[in-house]
Amino acid sequence: MISIDEAIDLVKSKSKPLLKEAVLPIEKSGGYLLFKDVLSPINMPPFRQSAMDGYALHLHNDLTYTLVGEVKAGDGHQPILNKGEAVRIFTGAAVPDSANAVIMQEKVIINGSELVIENQLSEHHNIRAIGEQVKKGDLALAKDTKLTPAAIGYLASLGISQVSVYKKPSIALLTTGNELMEACQSLSYGKIYESNSKMLQNALYNLKFYDLHFHKVEDDYGKTLSILQKVISQHDLVIISGGISVGDYDFVGKALQELHVEEHFYTVKQKPGKPLFFGTKNDTLIFALPGNPAASLTCFYIYVHIALQKMMNKTDVELPRVKAKATNEFTRFGDRPQFLKAIYNNDGVTILEGQSSAMLQTFALSNALVFVPEHVSKIEINDDVEVILLPN
Ligand code: AMP
Ligand code: MG
Repeated sequence: MISIDEAIDLVKSKSKPLLKEAVLPIEKSGGYLLFKDVLSPINMPPFRQSAMDGYALHLHNDLTYTLVGEVKAGDGHQPILNKGEAVRIFTGAAVPDSANAVIMQEKVIINGSELVIENQLSEHHNIRAIGEQVKKGDLALAKDTKLTPAAIGYLASLGISQVSVYKKPSIALLTTGNELMEACQSLSYGKIYESNSKMLQNALYNLKFYDLHFHKVEDDYGKTLSILQKVISQHDLVIISGGISVGDYDFVGKALQELHVEEHFYTVKQKPGKPLFFGTKNDTLIFALPGNPAASLTCFYIYVHIALQKMMNKTDVELPRVKAKATNEFTRFGDRPQFLKAIYNNDGVTILEGQSSAMLQTFALSNALVFVPEHVSKIEINDDVEVILLPN
């Protein structure tokens, strides 16, 4: 049995960036990182662009100009202005080549076809130069840049419709257990409804992992072996729920051994989630999470989360941790460090009743986990405690 810190370090060191490329329509690329540098296919702006609603002028030494036409945004024509002439122009419209400044409409006096300005203007005033933002062929965004809404808008403004991003892992979710039934079935004696796959599916969706493949298997060694062999060869990450403990019908550990999965750890000194397995085979990561639902989800947030972020080449891989004052007491039994379901807000953090690894009811109400290290057996009101914020 290893410590939580050792287990976290092993997940960090054994989970490698999944250096696979995916090409996505730009509108579906939010949250991904760029796999390659993106060069701009155009000058942006592509033409000399008016930054204001106003008048484009061919400057001369006088403050009075003659109005000779108009250019709206999107117009393709180029009026020719002689010195001392002006055209009405609007934001985003192409400034004629023969104009060399734009003045805001609020700063001119119009008398029929005559326009008077107050002060002399400098050249290029209120004109966005060709390629001012980025020039054709120059770097628009570098490899590894996160595609935020702004980044997507920027690339779209360059006429880019597809981007090359780091592919997200293909993930198999395998649930084990003879006792598990689907929600549409009526419960027979001794059975329970299967919940871990829906729970983990949503935890993965929250983190924007959608390439999920679901499997279920009975507590049968041969069937467990054959499904595991298949999913390990086909996916980047395999998450197994249940069947990893010490019961006579827990076959996952034996099957993983038979398949020569390299074990990095099995059992962690923690509560909940002691029977946790992490291993790899070739480039596939394998987590076997305890079947008890609250333990399963806790292990997902503490360990699988790290592996997922590492696979995506991210540097911030753990859930955020903050310090907060406890609003209630808690006494721990036993010597294992503990993750406690809790509610965190501006007043501090409240540890909930009902910490059993089999119960999801309190987990459903919590937005945080309080971490109780090995040397702390009692939390008093107002103690500073470590709070792990859940990504809900
Ligand atoms: P196991 O780890 O297989 O020994 O399962 C531990 C406990 O978790 C048992 O009470 C199981 O019935 C329960 N359990 C296992 N898998 C699931 C699941 N997918 N959904 C809900 N409960 C489960
Ligand atoms: Mg089981």
